[in-house]
Amino acid sequence: MTRRRRAEADRFWEKVIKGPRPTDCWIWTGAVADDGYGRFWVSRDGRQRALRPQRFAYENLTGEALHPGIALMHVCDVPLCVHASTGGASHLLPGTQELNMLDRSQKGRHANASSFRWRGIGRSRFHAQSVALRTALLEHGWNETIIRPLLTGTDPEAPTLF
Ligand SMILES: [Zn+2]
Repeated sequence: MTRRRRAEADRFWEKVIKGPRPTDCWIWTGAVADDGYGRFWVSRDGRQRALRPQRFAYENLTGEALHPGIALMHVCDVPLCVHASTGGASHLLPGTQELNMLDRSQKGRHANASSFRWRGIGRSRFHAQSVALRTALLEHGWNETIIRPLLTGTDPEAPTLF
């Protein structure tokens, strides 16, 4: 890795707050776009480009370059999560692996604690929830009492799923 790329990676990981348990999410606390997902701005060929933090994290940690056509999916459903690894603990899976997980979920064996809060909500709430999570982390750090409900809790104002 070049020195410039290393500095870029340092700048990236400074914006990530990790939960205390090995299975916890690692949350991006940099820019959040309207879609509720993060953006990481880098310089490429003299131009500013916005990267998806989860893709940056995945490539940085696994050393694997993702083909642009391959989607990276969140097993945990938390859009700001960047918990990537090559082992079974990864919250991010390339599309093909995701299909396998989906297959498992359809058989009722795959569930995660965050699904209820993040699945099936509207776009505007997606953004609001991501911003609320980021704000809480920046203000309080990973305070379990505050952060856990923002990851998994139910909101009385959220539309019902069924
Ligand atoms: Zn996660």
